[in-house]
This record gives sequence, C-alpha cells and structure tokens, in this order.
Amino acid sequence: MTVAPTPPQSVTVRAPAKVNLELRVGALRPDGYHDLATVFQAVSLYDEVSVARWNEWQVVPGGAYADRIPTDGGNLAVRAAKLVAEQWDIDDVLSIRIDKDIPVAGGMAGGSADAAAALLACDHLWGLGLERDELAELASVLGSDVPFPLAGGNAMGSGRGEQLAPVLARGTFHWVFAISDTGLSTPEVYRELDRLRAAAGSDPGDPSHTAEVSAELMAALRSGDARALGAALHNDLDEAAFSLRPELRVLRDAGVEFGALGGIVSGSGPTVAFLTESHEASLDLSVSLAASDLCRDIRRAKGPVHGAQVVTGPRAD
Ligand code: ATP
Repeated sequence: MTVAPTPPQSVTVRAPAKVNLELRVGALRPDGYHDLATVFQAVSLYDEVSVARWNEWQVVPGGAYADRIPTDGGNLAVRAAKLVAEQWDIDDVLSIRIDKDIPVAGGMAGGSADAAAALLACDHLWGLGLERDELAELASVLGSDVPFPLAGGNAMGSGRGEQLAPVLARGTFHWVFAISDTGLSTPEVYRELDRLRAAAGSDPGDPSHTAEVSAELMAALRSGDARALGAALHNDLDEAAFSLRPELRVLRDAGVEFGALGGIVSGSGPTVAFLTESHEASLDLSVSLAASDLCRDIRRAKGPVHGAQVVTGPRAD
C-alpha cells in the first residue's frame, strides 16, 4: 500500500542579496526604462521567507530590518505568492514570514530576493515541481531584479537587467558593505542620472549612451584576481547617487583610503560596497569604517554564493 505524502505545513527559502560589479546604463528608452549591461554577484547576506497556509493574507516581519518591511499587498513576496496561486488556480491563502537581513531600499535587491524566495517556497508548498526556467519566467514578470536571486552565483544581466547569462568566474571575494539608515529610491536615482547627462549637454535618450560590460571585469572574474576586480568595479549610477547624497562620496573615498581594493555604490545605492583582499582585510576595513562614524551599519559578506534554496520542508531532489 502506498501512502500519499503529507503536504508540508510550511516551507522556508533563503535568498541572497546582490552587488552589481559593473552597471552600465544605456540611453533612456521611449518606455521610460534604460537598457542596462550589468554583472551581478550574489553575496552572503540573506533574507529567509517562510510560507504557510493561513486564513488571511498576512506578512509577519522579522530579522534585523523587520521594522522596514512593508506588510501590505504591495510586498513583493505577497505579489509573488499571489502570482503563482493565480497561474495554477490555487485558492490557498498564506501567512508569509520574512526574516530580513538584507538592507531595505539599499540597492541590494532585498525585495527582489524575497519575491524569488516566495516563488520557490510556493512551488514547494503546493508541490508544483516547477523547472528553474519556469520560475525564472515568473520572476521576470515580478521585476527585473527578481530572476538573479533565484540563479545566484555571478551573471551578466541585459535588457532591464532581467535577461541573465552565466559568467565564468573563479575564487571567492570578500566584501564590506556600508549601510545608510535612509534608503534611496531607484527611479529617483535614474532620473538624477538623466538630469546630470542633460546638464552635461547630452540628451539622455541619445544612442551614444551605450551599455556594455568591460573586458577587464570579465577577465578579473575569470582569473579570480581580487586586485584586478577592484580596479574594474564600475557603476554609472555612482555620480547620480553622490549628487543626491554627497556624503556617500565621502564614505566611498574613505573606504578606499582605508585600504579597499575598490569601492562603488551598490546598484542604485545608498549602500556602498567595498572589495577587499581577504577575510582579514575585510575585518580591518570594517573596524576603520566603524571608527570613522561615516555610516550607520557595516556588514561583511563573501561572494559568489548560491541562489534561492529551500532550507526547511521537503526538497525537490
Ligand atoms: P533594487 O536594488 O532592486 O532597486 P533595493 O535593494 O534598493 O532594490 P528593496 O529593499 O528591494 O530596495 O526595496 C525597494 C522598495 O520595495 C522599498 O521601498 C519597499 O517599500 C518595497 N518592498 C516591497 N516588498 C519588499 C520586501 N519584501 N522587502 C523590502 N522592500 C520591499
């Protein structure tokens, strides 16, 4: 006699933050977006998302940044779960617990990580057995930064960042993230970039604003050379973020002076990411930054790490 498997009561998935090693912003398109060329690296700061059947939709906030998690239907994890329910005609209503260790509105794609985690958690809770490319398809509906935390590792992103291609890389890199206590709005930073380009006499829609990843960055990743990677880090949004928050430039310059191999704004900021030579160097840099009093919070992490993974409940394999 075969016994039908009992459906899991709850499923927990862990998803990583990202840093953009390079972010090139192309011309402003008629639809209001920009073409991007970027290289993502998943880093070891994680959110955990747990889903369980419940009698009404709810978000239960937890973790270091619990007080900044939206608890309404606009939460990206809720939107992800509802998208799966709608596509597979599932009537369940869920309680979603988010343990947040990824800074909110920090340019590290925490909301996108939660959406990716919720997709995978619902797949397991409802026993759908979705393939990775089906999950990636759903992810790109939710937002251009959602496919990457599913995949993890290192990847090149094009289009609005959602079209991913794997990148050959070796080695582990050691990061220090300097976190601000107030977020920056991504659309505002892009608008500021367009304003700066226009002020410099160049139409933001001009096709001369091309988006291409540099050969130097790819070579640095292939060789696992932290020094070369530090020199190749580049973010076209740096100047826009510095223009909105001049103190971020001071922070970046201080980190480089304290010995970082390179420093850039992470995504659209305001987190500033510093690459260091080694685990020990990342500890030293954290101490120097903490003593400088230039940022609210400092986190160390390594990358690349895996994409979203189930950490409780039955696994697919
Ligand atoms: P990105 O790098 O993708 O632009 P970010 O890291 O700057 O994003 P997020 O932490 O993803 O920023 O938050 C951006 C906004 O999304 C916040 O202002 C927040 O209100 C909203 N949001 C929706 N769902 C979530 C979630 N689960 N966690 C955090 N923020 C969320």
